[in-house]
This record gives sequence, structure tokens and C-alpha cells, in this order.
Amino acid sequence: MSDGRSFVIVGAGMAGARAAASLRAEGFQGRVVLLGEEHDRPYDRVPLSKNYLRSEPGYHRLFVHDEGYYAEHDIELRLDTRAASIDVPGREVVLECGERLAYDRLLLTTGADPRRLRIPGCDLDGVHYLRRTADADRLRDAVTAAEQIVVIGAGFIGCEVAASARLMGTEVALVGTGELPMCRALGPETARFYRDVHAGHGVEWHLGVGVDALRGGARVEEVVLADGSVLAADAVVVGIGAEPRVELARSAGITLDNGIVTDEHLATNVPGIFAAGDVADAWHPTLGRRLRLEHWSSALNQGPEAARNMLGNSTAYSRTPFFFSDQYDVWMEYTGYATEGAEVVFRGDPAAGEAAEFIAFWLREEKLVAGMNVNLKGVPDTISALIRADLRLDREALADPDVELASLLPSS
Ligand SMILES: Cc1cc2nc3c(=O)[nH]c(=O)nc-3n(C[C@H](O)[C@H](O)[C@H](O)COP(=O)(O)OP(=O)(O)OC[C@H]3O[C@@H](n4cnc5c(N)ncnc54)[C@H](O)[C@@H]3O)c2cc1C
Repeated sequence: MSDGRSFVIVGAGMAGARAAASLRAEGFQGRVVLLGEEHDRPYDRVPLSKNYLRSEPGYHRLFVHDEGYYAEHDIELRLDTRAASIDVPGREVVLECGERLAYDRLLLTTGADPRRLRIPGCDLDGVHYLRRTADADRLRDAVTAAEQIVVIGAGFIGCEVAASARLMGTEVALVGTGELPMCRALGPETARFYRDVHAGHGVEWHLGVGVDALRGGARVEEVVLADGSVLAADAVVVGIGAEPRVELARSAGITLDNGIVTDEHLATNVPGIFAAGDVADAWHPTLGRRLRLEHWSSALNQGPEAARNMLGNSTAYSRTPFFFSDQYDVWMEYTGYATEGAEVVFRGDPAAGEAAEFIAFWLREEKLVAGMNVNLKGVPDTISALIRADLRLDREALADPDVELASLLPSS
């Protein structure tokens, strides 16, 4: 039996594409419209700083679904189409071209955009940001042509781009205001490991220092640091964080904080409107706080959860946060959510260098809040189960590689 309702999704990225697919998988027979302002059909951004940037085998496996998928599943994928505003009383999305689309349920998966550098010279040619395939294509050309690039920002994007550029044979100077790279997410103990891995690959670190200006003629040529040093740059990559795309939600009077505020069902304060992925500042029932996670796994899983709730279910999104990173030959996965002051216990020795295999555990009141496995696979599910078990753990057992992690779980 067909359903006369119309569900509209704004934002054709990972979260939006997964939500549209879930609506059909759950048996929804009404209209599904997926709007995206980009030219490409929904794709995964993860490879853009990694094998896609380096043009390595496998980089073409970028798209969330095959080209024919959307038509086959009667999903109206409208690319190159920007939603300009939401008419809440009329329950319509207003497109930039003036067309109005009626919705019964609306999902906002508008993602995030790179935070912009605002210093003298920031608009010079040769200054790059990385979010879209076209950005990665331009950056690849720039890195290939450059002798030295300067990466501004020692977070995940900056560090992954630096690793790719080194693997492509380009000199890299990496500038970060913190004393260690990725320190806010990883804490100092594991951030030191990454600092040393990059140094071992010849990255020139400038940590604990800001950037005052970019200088050049037609193009960027120099980066002026706050300590007065001047770095030569054939290109500059800026990776100083991302801002959630909340402009549409603002037009609808939806409550905003660190993104679009939702409850644990990914519902906003405006009836019928949901949010998921990088843009959602969602209540996490287990952690007891709101979180906006710019992680692939949140986009992957929140989209489907939002879809189920749009269909009238009432399921909470309570997955343990999870992300990963890939730099040189170092593969890591991080499960959980640790805040400053958590105690760190290591299983294995991060000082063993790039080939080190170790797990870092973060504990609060002897209970596991997060774990990060480096160069070891198959661990996150057990870490997640240990976090959820909410039990006091023995530090020595956690640190001992001879103790099976799963044996620390309560027997069922
Ligand atoms: C270079 C890079 C590397 C990454 N690597 C990792 C990694 O290793 N591990 C990890 O866990 N995560 C990684 N991430 C993060 C992960 O890719 C994101 O969390 C994920 O892409 C979020 O998906 P999303 O669908 O919420 O948002 P997005 O992917 O940003 O999609 C949102 C889409 O909505 C569109 N849009 C916005 N406003 C409108 C509008 N008004 N009308 C129409 N369309 C609109 C945007 O153009 C965009 O296409 C990486 C991100 C980047 C950029």
C-alpha cells in the first residue's frame, strides 16, 4: 500500500544517504527526497586526506551507494540543489531556485565546513581547505608540485594531510597552537606518540605557536609565526576545525548550541524536524550530556536512527562514540569518550615507535571511559562492551597483554 507522506532530507552526505536508504529498508513507501548542494552523489570524506589524496589503489571506492541505487530505490536524489530556508508553519523546504518542497518529516544532515583562518594574507592563492573531492583534487596537484607545504593546525585533518604529503615526497612544516598534536582528543600520552611518528618521517614541528600572517605576491610564499619565525611555503593547508552548517536550522528557529540541538531520538525542538551526523548536537543518554561528534561512525549510524524515529519509532541513539585515523603505517581506533583528567593505562609500549602495537585505556573512578587501539585490530567491540559494563577494572589486568580483554567482562 502506498503512503502519501513526503520525507525530505537536506544534506546528501554520509548521514543523509544512509537515512534515505534506511527509510526504504524499513519499508517506507512514501516520497523520499534527498537534497544535496554538491555535484557528486553522496560520498565518504574519510579517504580525502588519505588514499584519495595520494591517488592510491582503492581511492575510487568513495561513494556511499552505486550510481543506480537511488533510482532503483525510488529515492529522488537532487544534486546541485541548495535548500535556502524552511517554512515551518507551511511545512515546506524552500530551495534556492524558489521551488517549495512539502514535507511531513524533515531531516537535516547538513554537515560541517572547515573553520576559516582570519589573518592577513588568508585569501592568497595557494591556501587550501579540505572537505570536498574538488578540494582534495586541488590539494593533490598543489602537494605534487610543491617542494614544501605548511600545514596550519595539528588536529586529525592536519596530521593526516601532513602524513600523506610526506608519503608523496613533499617537505612538510606542521604548525599547531597546542604543545602536542591531536591532544584535545587523545590526551598528552598518546599525542606524544604521534608527534614522534611524524618527526620520524621528517615533519618539521612548530608546536605551541600561532600564525600571525601569510605573505606572498600572487600566491602564498611565506607563513609568519607568532614567535617571529618565517616558514617558506609553496602551498598552505588549513585544518583548524570545522563549524556545523546550522544556517537552515537557524532560519527555522530550531534551537542551536554546538550545532543543531536534538534529544536522544535525534529530534529537534520543532515537531517533525530531525538532525543527524556532523551537524547534530545530540543528547547521549549513556554519557548524560549532549555531544556533536565529527566522526564517520556517527554519520553512518545516526542517519539510520533518525530515519527510524521519523517513521514513528522511539529509539535512542546511545552508541559508544567511535573514530579512527590512518597516518603512515599507523592505524588507530578510538572507542568511548574521555575528558581531561582521566587516568591512562597502557597495554604495550607506545615508545616502541611507529610499529608499536598498544592499547591506551582511560579510566575514571577505575571504570573504563575510553580505549584506543593502535596497530591492533578487532578490539573496539570489547572496549565498548567494557565501557558499557560500567564496572571497576583492575589496572594490572588491563595493562597485561596476556590477559584476554574479553575475560574482564562479566560472565553472562
Ligand atoms: C578530509 C576528511 C577526513 C576524515 N577522516 C575521518 C576519519 O579518518 N575518521 C572518522 O571517524 N571521521 C573522519 N572524517 C569525518 C567524517 O567524514 C564526517 O564525520 C562525515 O563526513 C559527516 O557526514 P555528514 O553526512 O554528517 O556531513 P557531510 O559529509 O558534511 O555532508 C553534508 C552535506 O550536506 C550538504 N549541505 C549543507 N547544507 C546544505 C543545504 N542548505 N542544501 C543542500 N545541501 C547542503 C553539504 O554540501 C554536504 O554535501 C573526515 C572528514 C574529512 C573532511
